[in-house]
Amino acid sequence: MKRFVSLLKNDLFKIALSLIFFISAIVVGRFELSIISFSLYIAALIISGWQVFLDAVRGILRRDLLDEKFLMSIASIGAMIVGEWSEGCAVMIFFLVGETFEERAVKRSRNSIRALMDICPDEAVIVVDGVETAVDADEVEIGSTIVIRPGERVPIDCTVISGKSDVDTSAMTGESLPRSVAAGDELESGVVVLNGLLTCKTLRAVEESAAARVLELVETANENKSKEEAFITRFSRYYTPIVVSAAVLLAVIPSLLGFTTFRESIYRALIFLVISCPCALVISVPMAFFGGIGGAASRGILYKGGHVFSKIANIYTACFDKTGTLTSGEFSISSVEAFGIEKDDLLSLAASCEYASNHPIAECIKRAVSNPEKPDFAEEKAGMGVVAKVKDREVAVGNAALMNTLSVDVSLVSDSEKGLLVSVDGVLRGIIHVSDSVKNEAKAAIKAMRRLGVKRTVMLSGDKLEKAEAVSSVVGIDVTCAELSPEEKYKKLETIIKESEKSTMYVGDGINDAPALALSDVGVSMGSIGQDSAIEASDMVIMSDNLMKIPEAILIARKTLNISKQNIVFALGAKGTILILGALGFANMWLAVFADVGVAVIAILNSMRALKAPKMKDIEN
Ligand code: ADP
Ligand code: MG
Repeated sequence: MKRFVSLLKNDLFKIALSLIFFISAIVVGRFELSIISFSLYIAALIISGWQVFLDAVRGILRRDLLDEKFLMSIASIGAMIVGEWSEGCAVMIFFLVGETFEERAVKRSRNSIRALMDICPDEAVIVVDGVETAVDADEVEIGSTIVIRPGERVPIDCTVISGKSDVDTSAMTGESLPRSVAAGDELESGVVVLNGLLTCKTLRAVEESAAARVLELVETANENKSKEEAFITRFSRYYTPIVVSAAVLLAVIPSLLGFTTFRESIYRALIFLVISCPCALVISVPMAFFGGIGGAASRGILYKGGHVFSKIANIYTACFDKTGTLTSGEFSISSVEAFGIEKDDLLSLAASCEYASNHPIAECIKRAVSNPEKPDFAEEKAGMGVVAKVKDREVAVGNAALMNTLSVDVSLVSDSEKGLLVSVDGVLRGIIHVSDSVKNEAKAAIKAMRRLGVKRTVMLSGDKLEKAEAVSSVVGIDVTCAELSPEEKYKKLETIIKESEKSTMYVGDGINDAPALALSDVGVSMGSIGQDSAIEASDMVIMSDNLMKIPEAILIARKTLNISKQNIVFALGAKGTILILGALGFANMWLAVFADVGVAVIAILNSMRALKAPKMKDIEN
């Protein structure tokens, strides 16, 4: 008996059992055994609806009269009373079918996103005095030594101390090609170690690590509602009361005026109640955004919320930072000139100066010196360089603008020769020539964005004009603005936004450009989740360096918006049509049930498409 009761709580069992009773009731009804048939209908109604009736009563006690369960209970019991037994029963059975389906669909898309987002291991294996112990990842202190074996996920951001391996970053970046790492390389949490054993030193706490940040972004993104979602919430607040009032009027007025019988007008009113449930919209529209955001996250594209979608779907102008965005940002030193100082000394002074900077140029200079000394004092001048005190010497590394502010005489070097300038105690002591290369996919990405309707592309660079123009012409950028300080970048962007007919996007690496990221309609920061200020300022974060992720993000946003609009139009259209037919007496309960459950099921199935990757074929090449 107990087992039977617990079975009665299983929706699929309830549906099956009530369908058996329902069909037998119809068959028996054919033989005019109406008492038996009626009892079978009642049995089917109770099996499928007892929980709904119970919830409806609870709803009344909560004074929540317009709860959908209440509406469905009234509709099915009402239909039984006016003698439409099979229809009253069908309302409840199909309502249950719809509910079960909705629940499963929502659960499924949650689960598939959770699986995609299963990037945070709970445990880490720490090594203390050569002994390995598995501990909770959130107990690992910064600077601990951990080991990661092939097949395991990196639990915490760390630097490799020893070992070599390929790592699969796809869960984090959406890039399918593995990357190889060795001693000295940084590893983000969430990537999977493929074939080697790595010993690493942790850099951050778990909750500061990349995987935790990604999860947090995705979670808050689901709370930032899109226009479409806000519309649905507002809409259902008015829709249900209006339809219910219309139903009451419909039950009373036509029969009072003598147009129809009382029974007929009650029946029409009940049809109204069945159609009045807005669940198709209330569930399917947020589900499309949920799928769009989650699916994109698994491909390394993090939106800050559904509200970004309509802006990114309509980009008119796309602006790019140069270094680290259009170019790889992996600089190498091509040559060093030193005046009255050893080249090695010049480089180590420069490296000390850059000690705390994470500008790509700084990284490259630090790589050239094995153990740069920590400066006594250093100040980074955004878009110009760094001034520091190293061993009682005033050292500056940066561009000509920086040297001008320090009144260092640079007349010695001709304009075209000006690489990265190094001054010591106010005297120019050397030039370090650095270069990086244009990203392989940059040209294709710009072309793809054009195909998607981006009308204007602009480069905003702090670098020298010749270098900036060289990159623009390779990549195919329309307008090049160079030698801009961060403030000038910001001002330039302001004018560009004014000229732009639709939204303006700014793509940067987050170094020196957080204000521009915040100003643009869509700020995109690329390449890393490490930079706090950049993540805060941007609307979208791309986890890899890959510029093709930008057209992909536009496609995902368009697809998601399309799905949600299709659902809104389809659901409102279908319900509206059947409401009118119902009011005029042309719709029966069966059609109403379809308008409710059928429309919901179709809309939800449509929403589930948002989770899948968009087709990139049409915009590539
Ligand atoms: P971009 O707009 O191309 O990304 P930035 O605004 O980051 O360039 O920097 C502009 C210029 O300022 C660089 O090309 C470089 O000459 C100089 N610069 C900025 N930061 C540094 C630094 N930390 N060390 C040396 N030079 C720097
Ligand atoms: Mg930059």
